[in-house]
Amino acid sequence: MPALDRRTFLGSSLAAVAAGFGSSARAVAAEVPGSGVRPFVYPFRIGDAQAWSISDANLMLGEGLDLMWPQEDHDRMRELLATYGEPAGPLPLYVNVLVVRHGKETILFDAGFGAGGNPQLGWLMAGLQEIGVAPEDITAGFLSHAHADHLNGFVADGKPAFPRATFHLLPEELAFWQGEHPDFSKSKRDPRPLPGMVEEVRRNFAILAPHTRTVKDGETLLDGLVTVHAAPGHTDGHACYRIRSGNDELLHLMDLAHHHLLMFADPEWTIAFDHDPQTAVVTRKRFWAEAAKNRTRCYGFHLPWPGLGHIVQEKPGYHWQAEPWRWLT
Ligand SMILES: [Zn+2]
Repeated sequence: MPALDRRTFLGSSLAAVAAGFGSSARAVAAEVPGSGVRPFVYPFRIGDAQAWSISDANLMLGEGLDLMWPQEDHDRMRELLATYGEPAGPLPLYVNVLVVRHGKETILFDAGFGAGGNPQLGWLMAGLQEIGVAPEDITAGFLSHAHADHLNGFVADGKPAFPRATFHLLPEELAFWQGEHPDFSKSKRDPRPLPGMVEEVRRNFAILAPHTRTVKDGETLLDGLVTVHAAPGHTDGHACYRIRSGNDELLHLMDLAHHHLLMFADPEWTIAFDHDPQTAVVTRKRFWAEAAKNRTRCYGFHLPWPGLGHIVQEKPGYHWQAEPWRWLT
């Protein structure tokens, strides 16, 4: 590049940076409380809809492969991780919250941990502030399932955190937690925290009850923007959601995968958090086969942030092909 062009080029890009800095400096009050960290927010589009992926937590699963089943496959899992240069110690667990804005709707798909005592968890509100969305602006919330990293952010200080939002979920999820004896007999979870977990979910469901609307498998809502897909196994009423706008779609995989290598290389590998691992495997295989065949753009709640990518068939298993970052949308 000739010197003059180069200088002009640099000059204009510096001006752009300065302008960008000026506007963001005005907008930024957001900081992840107590952490000194700016929220991680990735903007993108789904057709005419604006979308953001907001990171809610910095989390490692200290138990690592001890959480993964079947245990006799741990050598294969270790070999896979080594092949891709991934540590086999603690496993990263990303927590990605999808926000979609279309027309008058601003929609949350799960809400993360909620802010609490631990500054490493519950960053969603800081992320929403960063993109100029107030809690009252959220019109709808869609829940995948009631584990703490998905449900708790819908409640703050004993009240709905998003006071104007209708809260959607499958009736099977309500029924499981509200049943007299929630059945964890097929799960590999540590049973000790379960009674406290059930109590917490019931408390949160009660707070959200006046705003709750149950949905059905296959139901399409908000003028075709959101379609519900029952995806049982991780929990009884685990749901995935498909967002459609114009010719574009995004399939939110929720907790069909907790790792970007393991559950794709072998969809029969399961995590201890699954309530019914066998059903989770059947569901995962169905979703992986369909998404790979149709080349569907996907989004993962626990996949490396920002969580966008494609599922590619690589016989005998699959591969998560993360989408490269794009700076402008
Ligand atoms: Zn989860």
